[in-house]
Amino acid sequence: MKALVAVKRVVDANVKVRVKADKTGVDLTNVKMSINPFCEIAVEEAVRLKEKGAVTEIIVVSVGPQAAQEQIRSALALGADRGILVQTDDEVGALEVAKILKGIVDQEKPEVILLGKQAIDDDSNQVGQMLAALMGAGQGTFASEVKVDGGKVQVTREVDGGLQTVELALPAIITTDLRLNEPRYAALPNIMKARKKPLDTKSPSDYGVATGTKLKTILVESPADRKAGVQVKSVDELVEKLKNEAKVI
Ligand code: AMP
Repeated sequence: MKALVAVKRVVDANVKVRVKADKTGVDLTNVKMSINPFCEIAVEEAVRLKEKGAVTEIIVVSVGPQAAQEQIRSALALGADRGILVQTDDEVGALEVAKILKGIVDQEKPEVILLGKQAIDDDSNQVGQMLAALMGAGQGTFASEVKVDGGKVQVTREVDGGLQTVELALPAIITTDLRLNEPRYAALPNIMKARKKPLDTKSPSDYGVATGTKLKTILVESPADRKAGVQVKSVDELVEKLKNEAKVI
């Protein structure tokens, strides 16, 4: 059984992002880029399914600039078998990514499709759900446990106030939550081996998708600076300020 994993190239989670002076986006000059953390969890889960014998081949796909090859190679070093870069320098919206992934699903026929629950750059949380709709497949979103058994997969989902377990017929979409697993670090020999694994380059038009037409970011702003706090001398003063200044009691 094949697994397809979608990985997005994003600004590393530890980097403090800077907004460009003209406020059209985030300044990516000399900024460390990484696999979106939730996608890394998706890769790890696919590798664990392969180690358990439930999956035989893992294909990693990324839609983005040529440099996104680095993130595909990182996923190959973690244990994926081959990669597909769908190369574009255009801004790509969630529906376009979902349509491209649908094109890859049609060609590769994976049974398990793993995505992150959201990309930490645009926080959109849409691609997995859209892909499930385009495929007419079941979806287990926000997964904290995944068990593949025969032609089905059981996904335990993190929902408000608890856990819900759903059973999905394959092929199915799974989007990963933080507690699904702890991704391993790539061992040096595996980083070397990953350089030799196959990586195909395609373009969105290979899947009938036109990019750069539907989405344009027009304004990006940093959060307003927080004002310094005030120290009060007594409980009475605090109550007075809460009542008359903040007007919250
Ligand atoms: P989003 O819906 O944009 O928050 O992203 C959810 C998940 O969809 C990500 O964690 C990835 O698994 C996948 N995804 C989103 N954008 C891309 C992209 N450009 N290339 C590959 N996968 C993507």
